[in-house]
Amino acid sequence: MMKETESERKILKGLLWTYIALCILIAGLNYGYATNAPEATAKLIAWAWHFYENWLKTGFIIVASILTIRLLNKTERTTMRKKNLKGFIVAALVVHIASPLILNNNELYFFAMPLPWTTVPLQLLSENSSFYIDRFPIWGATGITMALIFYLFVCGVVFFGTLLLGRRWQCSTICLFNGFASEVFAPAFPLIGKRKQALPNKIRALTILKWTFFVLAMLFTLYWIFLLSDVTVFENYELVGRLEIYKYLSAELLMMMFFWVVFIGRGYCYYCPLGTTLALLGKVAGQKIVTNRTECIDCKQCNQTCPMAIDINSRSIKGEPVTSLRCVGCGHCVDACPTKTLRYSTAFLSWISK
Ligand code: SF4
Ligand code: SF4
Repeated sequence: MMKETESERKILKGLLWTYIALCILIAGLNYGYATNAPEATAKLIAWAWHFYENWLKTGFIIVASILTIRLLNKTERTTMRKKNLKGFIVAALVVHIASPLILNNNELYFFAMPLPWTTVPLQLLSENSSFYIDRFPIWGATGITMALIFYLFVCGVVFFGTLLLGRRWQCSTICLFNGFASEVFAPAFPLIGKRKQALPNKIRALTILKWTFFVLAMLFTLYWIFLLSDVTVFENYELVGRLEIYKYLSAELLMMMFFWVVFIGRGYCYYCPLGTTLALLGKVAGQKIVTNRTECIDCKQCNQTCPMAIDINSRSIKGEPVTSLRCVGCGHCVDACPTKTLRYSTAFLSWISK
């Protein structure tokens, strides 16, 4: 049994390495080489990038989910984690497969994260942006309108879903950026070295990074909003667009993968601007981990399993709820508790359970 588990974990790690290597290779070609390549080569690279983002990613999510559940089933309760994985599979099938086919647009993944790592939807409204200039000939006015409707639909789903179900809705059910990876590849992290938890000094550094990225995201968003309102703050639109792409490629994509290799799957979630916004919305939703003092046996398994390094145990021994802004609602602590002391809840969830 032990041998079988180890070989499945190795396969999962191999899958994650392949996923990372393909991403770096194809993103490098797409954002670097393709800009100066002959038209036919550039088209082929763009096709490969879309194939990777949509079909391959969905394939990885399905296969890795199956492996992860097989691995976890041998040692842990998996009630919440199975729900997470089902959510990501459905989200991938909708966003990466069904919607691109229906709307004839292979780049809808750009629109699947409101307040995301770039301001693509806003740039799409500005004829001065390089994103608009590049895409208009492909999509035309109808294609752009459909993409924006899709974006608004996703915004609505994320916003109202979070108001009802807390941050768990986005971060542990439908996020196709870092949320899915941290769940479907969970037993593979870190790819190098032993499993780690963020220590207080790292948490402090990541908290600074979180607010820095939040402010940066706001500034980029405001820039395009001003421009769309005919207020020009800085005329070099191309440079601003390029800065966002560099920010995305280095601080988001590469750093996210760096965390997968040496740290944990949720590294990016510590400073994701959307996650920060949804954490605040989660407060409005009354998101919390309900604890039950009488059943807590002080084993600390909840703390050991939490990917966001939240001290759940010190609350559960007092019977107080866990309301940390860092909580992504993954439910790992709920599954890990041997006495079923913990429960994920929001105002809406407790209302329907009455
Ligand atoms: S914090 Fe951001 S990247 Fe992480 S799961 Fe939430 S939305 Fe996705
Ligand atoms: S407190 Fe529980 S639900 Fe929240 S991030 Fe930690 S393990 Fe996940």
